[in-house]
Amino acid sequence: MLEKSSKKLEKTVLVGIVTKNQSENILKEYLEELSFLTFTAGGIVIKIITQKMESPDPKFFLGKGKMDELYAYNKSNDVSSVIFDDELSPAQQLNIEKFLKCKIIDRTGLILDIFAQRAKTSYAKNQVELAQYQYILPRLKGLWTHLERQKGGIGMRGPGETEIETDRRIVRNKINLLKKKLVSIDKQMSTQRGNRGSLVRVSLVGYTNVGKSTLMNSLSKANVFAEDKLFATLDTTVRKVVVENMPFLLTDTVGFIRKLPTQLIDSFKSTLTEITEADLLVHVIDISHSNFQDHINSVNFILNEIKADQKPVLLVFNKIDKYKNDKENIKDVFDIEYEDKSLEKLKNNLTKSLEKRPYFISALNKTDINKLKKELYKKVREIHITRFPYNAFLYPDVN
Ligand code: GDP
Ligand code: MG
Repeated sequence: MLEKSSKKLEKTVLVGIVTKNQSENILKEYLEELSFLTFTAGGIVIKIITQKMESPDPKFFLGKGKMDELYAYNKSNDVSSVIFDDELSPAQQLNIEKFLKCKIIDRTGLILDIFAQRAKTSYAKNQVELAQYQYILPRLKGLWTHLERQKGGIGMRGPGETEIETDRRIVRNKINLLKKKLVSIDKQMSTQRGNRGSLVRVSLVGYTNVGKSTLMNSLSKANVFAEDKLFATLDTTVRKVVVENMPFLLTDTVGFIRKLPTQLIDSFKSTLTEITEADLLVHVIDISHSNFQDHINSVNFILNEIKADQKPVLLVFNKIDKYKNDKENIKDVFDIEYEDKSLEKLKNNLTKSLEKRPYFISALNKTDINKLKKELYKKVREIHITRFPYNAFLYPDVN
């Protein structure tokens, strides 16, 4: 994992492959995101290595020629880690590490590292630790093979095996302990959630870095940490918000990301409980990002995984102020080709192709926040008066 102690950015090489299932363009986007993740973790990308292949090499992931190239490059450039965009098998990771003699990290390991760095509450810390142990467990086998080879086979099997068995037992015990701890915190938290009464709950969901926390700050007076890095924080923040006298609870959640392994979603399920218990979701999308459609799909995928895909959703396209500068990068939405790539045209196209009316805002500049507030009020009111029918007169209907 990347060390955070030194302020110097760690020199990093990224590796990705073009396959039948992964075109050159898609790889480019993944690698851009991986660079950003690397930066978030404290590294700087000095080279990117890509290869076209049928499927990854089972031993070294890359072909032999590329591995030699990588070795030579690392040697003359003092590279401290090589980060692979895809998940490596425990055996691949070990083989590559031995060959290149530097830290080898895959996307999952990198994401876990960032989560670990950013977890603040003990709850979040426990969840990351659990995910990390689950990630390490199958990789201990590699470690064993490693030791066995170093020491030679005969006579070493006993101690080697004992060592690995001990390690495994320790890790398994830790996993069980963490699971128990999380169950008990879950209970506490669900009691806390119960105590919040029947106030309507709204959850901000969306890809990471789209502006959820910024929007939370614009809608409430909360001071939620927002920065231009992926996963600014793992912890959810809940605030009571009042719009036109109407109180409701607003939750800022962790951002989703592509290629998040299912096993990881599993360890973060509790974090996602806020979403499964919400009455209304506000799906925030960064309209200035060239690949926002893919982001929408990833978010919907995870919502589906946690069975929250049937909830009412308000689609909010954020960062309209930034779109102007980046419009050359914008692709055709929903495969509709169009020449005019102005924001207005894009808005029209989106409004036409989406089932529900989307909202277009700038959370940073507070542009059109009031329109969104009005819609939120309407939606929250609908739910609120089903719970407190005698309160209806307090909240006038708006159109
Ligand atoms: P989150 O990961 O979804 O919570 O995103 P954040 O709220 O942390 O925002 C990520 C980055 O985007 C920060 O640097 C924000 O200042 C920036 N940002 C958020 N909303 C806007 C916006 O409307 N316009 C622009 N230009 N930047 C924004
Ligand atoms: Mg945030």
